[in-house]
Order: sequence, then C-alpha cells, then structure tokens
Amino acid sequence: VWRVHQIHQCPKGTLYAEQGPVSSVRSCCFPTTLIALIVFFACAISTAAGQNVKGQDPIGIHLLKHRLMVKPDFEAGALEATSVLTIANASGKEVKTISAILHHMLEVTAANTSDGKALRYTQEVVPMADDKATRVRHVQVALDEPLLPGVSISLEIKYQGRLAGYEDAGRAYLKDRVGREFTIIRLDCFAYPLVCSPSMADFVKSVLWDLGHGWDYLLEVTVPEQYVVANGGKLLGRNHENGTITYTYANMKPAWRIDACIAKYDVLENDDASAKVFFLSGNKVDAQRSLDALMRSMDCYSEWFGPLAGIDGFSIIEVPDGYGSQADVTSILQESKAFKGEMHMLYHEVSHLWNPPTLDANPSRFESEGLACFLEYLLVEKLDNTPGYLEKGLKQRRNGFRAQCRSKPDLKDISVAEYGVRDCTEASYTKGPIAFWLLYEIVGEGAFFDSYKRFRQDCGDKGGTLADFMATVKSVSGMDLQRFADEWIYGTRSSEYLLSDMSLQQVLEVYAAESGDSTESRR
Ligand SMILES: [Zn+2]
Repeated sequence: VWRVHQIHQCPKGTLYAEQGPVSSVRSCCFPTTLIALIVFFACAISTAAGQNVKGQDPIGIHLLKHRLMVKPDFEAGALEATSVLTIANASGKEVKTISAILHHMLEVTAANTSDGKALRYTQEVVPMADDKATRVRHVQVALDEPLLPGVSISLEIKYQGRLAGYEDAGRAYLKDRVGREFTIIRLDCFAYPLVCSPSMADFVKSVLWDLGHGWDYLLEVTVPEQYVVANGGKLLGRNHENGTITYTYANMKPAWRIDACIAKYDVLENDDASAKVFFLSGNKVDAQRSLDALMRSMDCYSEWFGPLAGIDGFSIIEVPDGYGSQADVTSILQESKAFKGEMHMLYHEVSHLWNPPTLDANPSRFESEGLACFLEYLLVEKLDNTPGYLEKGLKQRRNGFRAQCRSKPDLKDISVAEYGVRDCTEASYTKGPIAFWLLYEIVGEGAFFDSYKRFRQDCGDKGGTLADFMATVKSVSGMDLQRFADEWIYGTRSSEYLLSDMSLQQVLEVYAAESGDSTESRR
C-alpha cells in the first residue's frame, strides 16, 4: 500500500491519506510554486491510463479559477453549494461539452453561463471507469456555443446534498460528512466539481496538471456564528449576518485543491498572523507546541536558505483522528494524534516553501522531496534536541528503499536522475534523504546550506533543474563531487551500497576519501 499525504495512488488507482510517522515510507506532495506543483505519484498513471470517457482530454480543459461558495446545513446533514469554474480550452479543438465529477450524493440543480443563462446538463451516478468501487456523479454541461481553442469561459454549477465519504470504496480516511462536530470539504471526496471524466486515471491526470500549474480559488463558507471555517489560504473577511458568519479565503500560492474544515475551532496565531493553528477544543497545549514548531522551523530555514518572499503564512489545521493527515501548499491538515507527536511532518512540509520550481520535464523530486525528508529529521534532531533522530530516520528510509526494491526489482538499476521518467519518484523519499545526508556530510554543513541558498537565489523565480542543483553544490563547496554524482545521482552504485551490509558511516567514508583526494589534486 502506498501511503502518501496528498494525492496518492496505489496500484489500483486508489487514493490514500498519509498515515503514519517515520515508520512507513512516507511521501508527499508538496509543491510550492507554480511549476513545482508536482505530486508524488506512486505507481504511475500508466497502470490506469488511456481510459478517457467520452473522449474528453482532461489535460485539454484547464481550470484557471474556482470560486466555491458553500453553506452547510448541520440540521439536515447536507450542504448547498455553488462553484464558478473558470476554465480554458487548451485542447486545440472546439469543445461543446464540459465533463465534471462530483460526490455521488451531491445533486446538480443548475448550470449557468457567467451572465446567468441556463445551460442544459445531464447527470448520472456512475462507477469510475477504472475503479468500480468508487461511484461519482458524472455531470455533463452542454455549452450554448462551442468553446474555441485558447478561449476561456466561466460556468456556474449549483449543487446540493449530503456527503457520505468513501469508506466503502476502501478509503478509510474519507469519513467526510456534513455534521455538527466536524465537517470537511475536500478534493479527495469530490465535494466540489472537478473537471474530468469519471475515470481515476483522468482524475489523477488532471490533478497532476493542476499540481504543475495551479489555479486560484476564492472560498466562501457560511456557518452558524459559533463555528469557524479553517483553510490554508489568506483570510479576506468574516461577514456576520443574521446569526451566521461567512468566511472568505483566497489561495496564497497556485492551488491544486481546496480544503475547508468546519468545527468549533480555536485559533492560535503569531503577531502578524503568518503562522496559524486551528485546533479542536481542549488541545491548546499541543496547538501552542505546533505553533512554536512552525515558527521555529520557518526561522531556521530562513536563516539557512534565505528569507521567504511572497508567502503570507502557513496554517496547521487539526482534523479528528482517522481523517488522514494531508498537506497542501500553505497548510497541513494534521490528525489529533499527530498534534501530540514529533514535529517531523510539519518540518517536512514547511521546508517545501523554500523549493524553487523545477524545470525538469519529468522531475525526479529528488531536490524537493529528498531534501525535505532529510530536513525533517535534521530539524527534529537540532531544534527539538533529539540526538540520534536523524540516524534512526535514515535507517528507516534505507529499509524503505530495500522494501521498494523487493516490490519493484528494477528500481535498484534506475538512477535518481531517471526517477521522473521511469515513474519511481517514490524512491526520492527513501534513497533521496540518504543522498542528502551524504552530501551534507561531504561538503560540510555551512557549504550545504549555502549551496541551497545559492540555488534559491539563482533559480528561485525562474526555476531550476536537478543538474542546476548539482552544479551549484559543486561550485559553492568547491569540491569535485564527481564520484558522488556518478554513484548517487546519475548512476546506481548507491543502490548496491544500500542493499549491502555497509553501514551508512562506511558509505560516507568512500566519499570522505574522495573529496580529500580531489582537494589534493586541485592543489
Ligand atoms: Zn514532501
């Protein structure tokens, strides 16, 4: 079972939430910039690809903006919502029908043009073409005139009904309901319309596109006054009216999902509201701990890698146990139990805010995920004063890599640089942090941090490639690093080391000798 904390696909095309602490091979997500929004995607689309329904290319229709208005009715256990979707036709041909999916219990009541003209539509509850256990409502809206290539339009879709999770489809964390205690509106449960065909492969393709490109959202949720709506975006307003309150949020970075959590939250935030924790009652001590950890890690990364530009904040949102911990671009949803535990997952996510966009066509995710997986341990060890945590974490990642090689024997013969092309970026979460640890040890802490700082200065806005990253480390450290690059990035000798009896310390010694030699030869 693949465990990931964003969009996650197992071999059957099932979505999973990230589950556990270090014990499982964890992967994430976490795209921080327009181009870098690329998801960890375990078994590759190829297992389920090519099953477009009705011939709509999900990558051909791009979402540009989603204005989502939701009004839950706790009494009835239902919601009423309106989505205004601004979409662009990038398919290269005329489009006459827009296909979208929704949770099967949500019923569409109207579809309109942006100027209020009613459009014809059909809706039908169907199983996903490639995942029969997952039923969705397939909505097809007939446009009043064909959408020409390169043109965008806005469509308004009104819908209402209940949410009934997807536990019966084998996704235990999707317990999503509309209720007084806790309500969550999220992508995973198709709680709002997603422009794609009713096929898991198309859904994943369109999410992958969104992760790479992003869109804007405006979220407006109206709740009774004693409730709080939590979202990772920027809070634009809270309007009181007749005993209700409407929360308005907008995304701070290009988005690929909208999460709205509704409960009687308490909120802790720092002075300038750049770090925020939404917590469920009774958990103030843990919330303060999380807030402190969030601020501490942001300070730490700023010091190491340079200040962060253009980020208005980061939020931690507590969700009840069982709902899955997940990460978005500027927030994480954290299960109650994770609130009490170590902060490594938080440190991992926060580090992604510093990642430049990737310019690799098929990113290996090494320099984002590999680094984040290394930093999550390093920060626990350093900031939380937990000696031995890094070593323990790396050992688990090594075991994770070995397990991945058992289930996918050719993995050991695939280089890190090829992980993207060969659909095995999951190994950037296992071999990746070990490679980063080696690099950190070989070049020394100062040069290691400076290298990433320089990489961000050079590539922060325009983006960079794995090759750019390696060239930067080489130049900043003044070391040759050829053998390291040959064995860990562009070759696979590293797999032999990880599968052998050598300790990581012994592996390090291989390069300590080498960098010493190269220093000699430079002299
Ligand atoms: Zn990550």
